[in-house]
Amino acid sequence: MSLAISGAELEKIREHARIAYPNECCGVLLGKEVGGRKLVVEARALENAQGESPRNRYLITPDVVLENDGYARLKGLEILGFYHSHPDHPPLPSEYDLENAWPWFSYLIVAVSQGSPGEAMSWELAKDWSRFNRETLKTDH
Ligand SMILES: [Zn+2]
Repeated sequence: MSLAISGAELEKIREHARIAYPNECCGVLLGKEVGGRKLVVEARALENAQGESPRNRYLITPDVVLENDGYARLKGLEILGFYHSHPDHPPLPSEYDLENAWPWFSYLIVAVSQGSPGEAMSWELAKDWSRFNRETLKTDH
């Protein structure tokens, strides 16, 4: 599938990544699936609950996912995926990201180099859970 996000929402994510540096930031992507495309309406910043190694891992607890699912439904939206940043690393999923991913959801990763947000890529777990496939990221700068 592809993920479409407005330039304004992507900028919010990049700003969150900049502020969180040198730690990873994270959040949820809320929107709608329309005709095989995921359309992000709102990127919602969350707290990184990974207390031990927040510089190279992020954690969103199940209760926070549930709370955001309820928030999304109230707005007629659903959770399309999650975003996080990679401080001083390329926006490629790590082994940890692979172990903690769920099918169907989009995983948007933004690289942050020395505090400056860089390239963003979006990933989706393969159906056999063995790896991530890159998905098209569409934005209207
Ligand atoms: Zn990661």
